Amino acid sequence: ALAPEFHVLAVACAGDPGAAILPRTGLPDGAFEHDGQLTKRELRVLTLAALAPRRGQLLWDIGAGCGSVGIEWMRAERDMRAIGIEASPERLAVAAGNATRLGAPRFDLRHGTAPDALEGLPAPDAVFIGGGLSEEVAKASLDALRPHGRLVANAVTLESEALLAQLHAAHGGTLVRVAVSRAAPVGSLRGWKPLMPVTQWSFTK
Ligand code: SAH
Repeated sequence: ALAPEFHVLAVACAGDPGAAILPRTGLPDGAFEHDGQLTKRELRVLTLAALAPRRGQLLWDIGAGCGSVGIEWMRAERDMRAIGIEASPERLAVAAGNATRLGAPRFDLRHGTAPDALEGLPAPDAVFIGGGLSEEVAKASLDALRPHGRLVANAVTLESEALLAQLHAAHGGTLVRVAVSRAAPVGSLRGWKPLMPVTQWSFTK
């Protein structure tokens, strides 16, 4: 039998008042309640691919925000486990609502600040750093990762991008910069509306 969370495949999306049939991963941004700091769909798809979810594995979602990456990890396979760490209580509450509504009620969301909040957590198979990136957080994550574990970190600021360049030089892995534009109305016509470019470092232990 399917786990109960797999019964939730359709929800009403903001901007799409009808029910939409949702994929397990790569959900439309409108499926999540969020305040704009969401990891956008195109980047989320690359992030989930690099995290490489396998049945039963554990993710740390650091800077969980509205929970989009942890929720998609939970939806990707059966028996998934995820711990989300988020510094903002408001966003944590939003993430909990999203998790329930999108079929990931077992997503373990915790209020806290990395790296302190990482201490004592069970060793992860994958770590996503979507916020709070620092040398200390990267080191704690790399140390905690199980053998063959994956780490993915996304950066939008110059400062965090510089740190990812250093980590890439020190450890190898893959560094990419992704610039996505979406077609949007320009008066009665259309033009490309760019999202902020994101630098993504991914690494397998
Ligand atoms: N993947 C998330 C993106 C969240 S944006 C989503 O799709 O919603 C980054 C988040 O990191 C913010 O919510 C911010 O509050 C949180 N954050 C920043 N520094 C942090 C830290 N040191 N520990 C935990 N959370 C942190």
